[in-house]
Amino acid sequence: MNRHSDYRSLATPGKSALLLDMDGVLYHGTRPLPGAARFLQRIAPLPHLFITNNPIRSPEEVARRLAAMGLGEVPPERILTSAEATARYLHSQHPGFRYFAVGGPGLHQALAAVGRADEHQADYVVVGEGPGLDYQTLTQGLALLTAGARLVVTNPDATVDDWADGRHRLLPGGGALVAPFEKASGQSALVIGKPEPLLFEMAAERLGVALHECWMVGDRPDTDIAGAAVLGIKTALVRTGRFQPGDPWPAELPRPDLDCRDLYELMDVLETVGVLPS
Ligand SMILES: [Mg+2]
Repeated sequence: MNRHSDYRSLATPGKSALLLDMDGVLYHGTRPLPGAARFLQRIAPLPHLFITNNPIRSPEEVARRLAAMGLGEVPPERILTSAEATARYLHSQHPGFRYFAVGGPGLHQALAAVGRADEHQADYVVVGEGPGLDYQTLTQGLALLTAGARLVVTNPDATVDDWADGRHRLLPGGGALVAPFEKASGQSALVIGKPEPLLFEMAAERLGVALHECWMVGDRPDTDIAGAAVLGIKTALVRTGRFQPGDPWPAELPRPDLDCRDLYELMDVLETVGVLPS
């Protein structure tokens, strides 16, 4: 990583806000990562929002899981999922929209709050991670897309990390699950989650801050870091997810402003740049 003294140039006068990825930053599955509880205590006075590409769980359920892990009481309003962002965006584009959704319960819940499920006359076919994709739903989605519905996916990840009984495995991500719909229909899906701008922009708007006042803390170079950097958001990588200490930086991606082994090192560096009080 860079020398800490190099970081002083990143200091911003006035307020800083933090946008926080969750999986691979604060926890793996249901196991909190070292320093997570302390980190959340220290950032508590700062404007901050948790943003996740994972559309499977509702903000309320994510908050319950954080509490169960001993990571404190996080109000659900501080959690913005790609499912919620998808629902809000579609509502802004087409109030009262009708949809056909293929994905987990968090997606269905978010869409039902602002739209109307209609498998025969849908304005949007919305795909998210989780169960739901099978021959029948693919056939139904294809019929709707052929009739003029727009294809939308909550997040573009090819795979997502999962920890079952403490063992790591890969699950198919939104990008993989929407691919059969794209192939069959010839339509390219509208992508909502990171690295696309919408989730970042909605988070900054909810906090009432400008993008350049935000720091993105994440574990994935291709989504968290690349997506934020494009928008002028300052970026901090923690190498505690799939991207590990010693892994070479992908040449095609912008480097993070801060590149840290773990949350302890991140707290030290955020002190150096004046984001956290010492
Ligand atoms: Mg992550």
